[in-house]
Amino acid sequence: MENKEQDRNDIPLSEEEIKILKASVNAEKVDRSKLPHYDNSDRAKLWRYIKKNKVFATICAVLALCVAVTLILCVVFAVRKAMDGENKDDFTVILGDDRYTAKYKDVMRDGVLYVDMRKIADYTGLTVSGSKTSVKFTYDDDNYLRFENGNDSAVINGSMVELGGVAVVNEKICEVPYDFLTKAVGDGLRFTLDRETNTIKIMRRMYTTDDKDVFIPKEIHFYTDSFTVLMGIAQNTNDMEYEYSIDVSAFMSSIDPKDQNAYLLLANKQNPVGADYAPTDLKVLECNTKGKRISLRYDAAIALEAMMMEMISDGITDTFVTSAYRSYSYQVGLFEGYIEDHMAEGMTREEAEAAALEYSARPGTSEHQTGLCLDFMTEDMSDLDESFENTAAFRWLSDNAYKYGFILRYPSNKVDTTGYKYEPWHYRFVGRTAATEIYNSGLCLEEYLTLN
Ligand SMILES: [Zn+2]
Repeated sequence: MENKEQDRNDIPLSEEEIKILKASVNAEKVDRSKLPHYDNSDRAKLWRYIKKNKVFATICAVLALCVAVTLILCVVFAVRKAMDGENKDDFTVILGDDRYTAKYKDVMRDGVLYVDMRKIADYTGLTVSGSKTSVKFTYDDDNYLRFENGNDSAVINGSMVELGGVAVVNEKICEVPYDFLTKAVGDGLRFTLDRETNTIKIMRRMYTTDDKDVFIPKEIHFYTDSFTVLMGIAQNTNDMEYEYSIDVSAFMSSIDPKDQNAYLLLANKQNPVGADYAPTDLKVLECNTKGKRISLRYDAAIALEAMMMEMISDGITDTFVTSAYRSYSYQVGLFEGYIEDHMAEGMTREEAEAAALEYSARPGTSEHQTGLCLDFMTEDMSDLDESFENTAAFRWLSDNAYKYGFILRYPSNKVDTTGYKYEPWHYRFVGRTAATEIYNSGLCLEEYLTLN
């Protein structure tokens, strides 16, 4: 309707209408109702103006649109800024002579400021090792940091401490809380954070000798002083005095082998050694095995023979080794035997397998395949069971096995971590240093290995 009226406003008056109009100017009595309605409001005037000036109207429309879009963008920007927190500015990270920008959302998560440890390691020359999701930064043997992807704790020189955030570790980055680093680095690096300009500055600390122009970077030290240690390896094994009641000098190179890591192989349900693993340095045991032909890897065998000599010298003569190295094929035979027994009882193969797994390791997952562990028994025992805990042999082993490089592998308080029930009879060779650290710390092998 409105359009029609407006259109009408544009139609030129007919001759008759002009006559009426002219007459109306002269005579008051003429009936004006016959004239077309003429809208004289501001709005109608504007419309008529716009119709006459199309270019001007288009410019106005475009300008109006621009203003509207700008307003909308401002609102969106303000809302996002409010959601991101008060300070949305990116960070400048200065690492020595290097400088890079880190996006606010990348370095600020849940109110914690993160820095990339891989970049810091590049700058400081730390050695980087580990896997994709677990990375270790080493300055020297006594100074290392270790981070695991998704973990809220970190390891400083064998001690697990709270990280104060969650580490993000992959092949490219290792993001750790800035505050953690400032507390963990005791010397060697200087950290400064300018909250006004969001600038993180990390510099090597230098010292100068008599020759004042020569600046030498300080050694880097990591320490746990300002943290609560959640779990840790005692660090003083180097100064430990070991007492033996026999002369062990001839066996010492096996008891305390040079290559510490050679005997730290982890074999459990999550880390099977696999069908192909077989040690190449097996030695048939010359200690009491009740006449059975039983083998261990060379150093483990020598250390065990020495240990059993001392047990006998200390009056424990009823203890013998009942099992040690088991090959993969032997495990398969054993496991299949258990399954066949259960199937003979009427179980399906699946049920029989499940039943066998309750007391036997799946072939390839048994630590016995490493040639580094053994099971003890005494004359009084008819089976391998917890009664070994009540023997003099067990009490002696609890106090002395570490001196020969052996650990109780499946302690009663670590069932959840090892995945095995308490086995007081099962001992594992790891070498004297690791055995002492494990003995002193009360950790199990799985925990010990995560701290190294
Ligand atoms: Zn065993």
